[in-house]
Amino acid sequence: MGPILLPEKLRAAIAAADGPIVFLTGAGISAESGIPTFRGPEGFWRVGSRNYQPTEMATAVAFAHMPAEVWRWYLFRRGVCRSAAPNAAHRALIGFEERAGERFLLVTQNVDGLHLRAGNSAARTYQIHGNIDFCRCVRGCPPAVRELPVTLPETWEKDRSLDAGELAALRCACGEWLRPHVLWFDESYDEPLYRYVSAQRAAERAAALIVVGTSGATSLPARMCETVAARGGPLIVVDPEPTVFSKLAEASARGVYLRGTATQIVPALTETLAALALQGA
Ligand code: NAD
Repeated sequence: MGPILLPEKLRAAIAAADGPIVFLTGAGISAESGIPTFRGPEGFWRVGSRNYQPTEMATAVAFAHMPAEVWRWYLFRRGVCRSAAPNAAHRALIGFEERAGERFLLVTQNVDGLHLRAGNSAARTYQIHGNIDFCRCVRGCPPAVRELPVTLPETWEKDRSLDAGELAALRCACGEWLRPHVLWFDESYDEPLYRYVSAQRAAERAAALIVVGTSGATSLPARMCETVAARGGPLIVVDPEPTVFSKLAEASARGVYLRGTATQIVPALTETLAALALQGA
């Protein structure tokens, strides 16, 4: 695809601002890596456990009652993520971070870890819903967030239960369970684990907010988009289907909806943005 043509008002606003260029990504950016989205026909989250819907499984209440069953489901999903590779859209964001340095910020709802595996820095990647490769003690023992035990296999057959050694590996030294480092449906965002405040501040200061592949159903991304739109800031939405965010962008003075997939649009868009915002950087 050739250069992306952005409306003149939007171009001028991006060129004049000196705040961070903030990318907000959702499940759609990983769809072309083979990870199903939330609402797609084979939705990642629709594939529940033997007896429970995902919205029941991905809860602290479920984990308290059936930790081994919840872990089995997460280990299967982690295997799907570990088998996937970053795509051209993920890679374009590494190139953009390399050029933009401190003016780059990435806020992702994805728990698949593909942005970090592609090479974006942990310091400038806010994983606001966690990362399926990590876990933490339910009692909060330090370190707050740790990698999953290396003894656990990276891929997992869907219906395989954990053996005694795997269950033991998922215990903290204090004896309590380790749990997936993922924000569950019955939990709230916070700053120490999920960068809640930092993500909102980024939206307040953003020279541009670029939203890629999210349907807009979660509250922090919605708040970020509304914050940018309310102050008339540059808002760019990339998605093959219209969403609440694409409608917000189209209704906004400095917004635009770019209809297409992440790999079709993000590589060219990062080039356009770099030329506009980073000249002389
Ligand atoms: P969602 O499924 O609600 O929305 C996905 C969006 O991506 C849709 O608007 C869809 O039209 C769009 N899309 C589909 N294919 C695309 C493509 N090739 N390029 C660009 N966009 C494409 O996902 P969400 O809004 O991110 O919310 C899902 C929630 O579930 C999040 O909280 C997330 O943590 C979790 N989740 C994560 C993953 C992951 O880590 N990869 C996958 C599924 C769900």
